[in-house]
Amino acid sequence: MTAVAAGVEVVGLTHGFEDRVLFADLSWSVPGGSITAVMGPSGVGKSTLLALIAGHLTPWQGQIRTAGAVEWIVQSVPMLERRSALDNAAMGLIAQRVKWEEARQRAQTALENFALGASAATRVAELSGGERQRVAVVRSVLRGAPVLLADEPTASLDPATCESICDALVASARAGASVLVATHDPAVAARCEKVLDLSVCARA
Ligand code: ADP
Ligand code: MG
Repeated sequence: MTAVAAGVEVVGLTHGFEDRVLFADLSWSVPGGSITAVMGPSGVGKSTLLALIAGHLTPWQGQIRTAGAVEWIVQSVPMLERRSALDNAAMGLIAQRVKWEEARQRAQTALENFALGASAATRVAELSGGERQRVAVVRSVLRGAPVLLADEPTASLDPATCESICDALVASARAGASVLVATHDPAVAARCEKVLDLSVCARA
């Protein structure tokens, strides 16, 4: 992967597994400040595309350029179960060498912005599934990576939680990030500026 000024750019990407081609000659760009929904039925290759962009897989053919550090939001994000929501949200900043007090302050503000202020002191093990996923999203978004990849971040969540996670992703895009969100959910796609439908990308 080569660093570029902004965004994610995929050019002529062909990839698959064994004799199955998932996408052939796929070109797509996600400029900084925009959000794309990656759609298509289960098994179509959404997670594979995100893994290629993250650099976890090497494509058969084509180029992938990203603006810099890539942040992943997965379905079940590992968290420190016995620590508070606040500590978990602050943890991503600590890893970036932000001082503890500042990290906690920024995490507190971000939790409050996503209606999680009341849960800040609660241990993650005691949060609901939806609250937990929102804390994980806050943690990722706080890191301010130029590229944010979310793999079905709203799967099996209620509509209000889903809406709140979309708000966080859209806010990241507004702040300048290139956001890709793999999803089955038309409500999530409706919040995105563009839709990349992988079910029309295979030409095996
Ligand atoms: P989606 O996220 O859209 O559900 P995936 O990207 O996870 O789809 O998988 C796309 C296809 O590639 C599936 O048929 C899956 O079984 C296959 N696949 C994924 N990873 C591997 C792998 N490491 N080896 C072989 N096949 C794989
Ligand atoms: Mg997947």
